[in-house]
Amino acid sequence: MDTIWDVVVVGGGPAGAAAAIRARQLRPDARVLLVDKADFPRDKACGDGIAAHGREELALLGVPDLIDDYRPTRGLSVVSPGGARVTAAVARPNHVVPRAVFDARLVEAARARGVEVRRHRVRGLAARDDRVVLDDVLAARVVVAADGANSAVRRLIGVPPSPDGHTAIAVRGYAEVPADDDVQFIAMQRDGWPAYAWSFPIGDGTANVGFGMMLPRLRATGRPGREVLHGRLAELLPHLPARDLRAHHLPLSPGRPRPGAGRVLLAGDAASLINPLTGEGIYYALLSGRLAGEAAVEAADPLPAYRRKLARALGRHLRTTDLLSRAARSPGFIDAAIATAARRKEVFDLLVDVGLGAGTVPPPLALAVARRWLWNGVRLRTRHA
Ligand SMILES: Cc1cc2nc3c(=O)[nH]c(=O)nc-3n(C[C@H](O)[C@H](O)[C@H](O)COP(=O)(O)OP(=O)(O)OC[C@H]3O[C@@H](n4cnc5c(N)ncnc54)[C@H](O)[C@@H]3O)c2cc1C
Repeated sequence: MDTIWDVVVVGGGPAGAAAAIRARQLRPDARVLLVDKADFPRDKACGDGIAAHGREELALLGVPDLIDDYRPTRGLSVVSPGGARVTAAVARPNHVVPRAVFDARLVEAARARGVEVRRHRVRGLAARDDRVVLDDVLAARVVVAADGANSAVRRLIGVPPSPDGHTAIAVRGYAEVPADDDVQFIAMQRDGWPAYAWSFPIGDGTANVGFGMMLPRLRATGRPGREVLHGRLAELLPHLPARDLRAHHLPLSPGRPRPGAGRVLLAGDAASLINPLTGEGIYYALLSGRLAGEAAVEAADPLPAYRRKLARALGRHLRTTDLLSRAARSPGFIDAAIATAARRKEVFDLLVDVGLGAGTVPPPLALAVARRWLWNGVRLRTRHA
């Protein structure tokens, strides 16, 4: 152990790459090491959807053109659990880029900025006063743990994983679609709600398709997970038979993240930052990684600095999505939200911002949705009386 790194980043997904790039951007002389258990390119079970908000993060990281060769997707169509439908153009286009490509490009961008990249699986951690030692072979002033949903580092520093009630599971695959298909489609399912299938066209005649639901709901079926997930995907998107199916857990945000301990900062899925309404996590991974990278090289005491940065950037949003996800346990709430979005474009735009970005809900809008929700409930009860 002859080097004490300024920052060791564990995990080369979007959170880790963003942290490493940002650290070198702010301190070009910083010694930054990025380790991952895999070599890149590597696949990652994901919907591959990169929201416009994520592209803004890429610009902040100095790689604004990273996915410019992928076609922007403007259409979004959502069918609610009760059958309400909204189809509209999003205010700013989204992209769909296979993770084998996206993550490898980000890691390459980090390498090009002077980050050293090594293959190494972290299994052990010892915290000292002035450094963190990984596996007895790597020492760092600060560690950014971006090692994903099953984060080993999070476990090693004693931060508990997302409880089952805040964990989803999803399967994704690829299907053939017309090359001009330009609409991201989401079909929600009442049975086992919250649950939905998606089709996200890449622009090359294939689409990423998948299905996700909450872990306790899956367990409650009493059937093998694979059978349920694959079966529901085929049921909801029967015209899109999928290949290369692969599933993974999604640690959903509980509203108030635990961003680390001591000299270890947790980012992305390792910090359970996935949006509980949509399952989107790439934007939050890029954002939290960037902020962790900043705190790691700028602050004498990085953890409180990182906590403040996260709270400023996402605090209100995370509390909003936590509250909304509780309301959304009733499928009627989502029916009302989608029906309202179908009638009012500004509501559609706002829901996109809350579901994919750092948006919050102004009280008058919350009231409009709540009113429709109650009204739908009254109508339903009158019909059944
Ligand atoms: C089926 C599915 C569909 C999804 N769809 C979308 C979507 O369309 N859009 C969206 O925004 N989000 C989506 N998400 C969520 C998104 O995939 C994650 O939020 C995102 O990948 C988080 O990035 P990350 O960098 O935190 O972690 P990851 O991308 O998981 O990267 C973690 C990295 O750490 C490495 N690693 C793990 N353990 C160790 C170790 N011990 N030592 C060293 N390295 C290690 C891994 O090899 C990996 O490269 C989806 C998730 C799933 C499961």
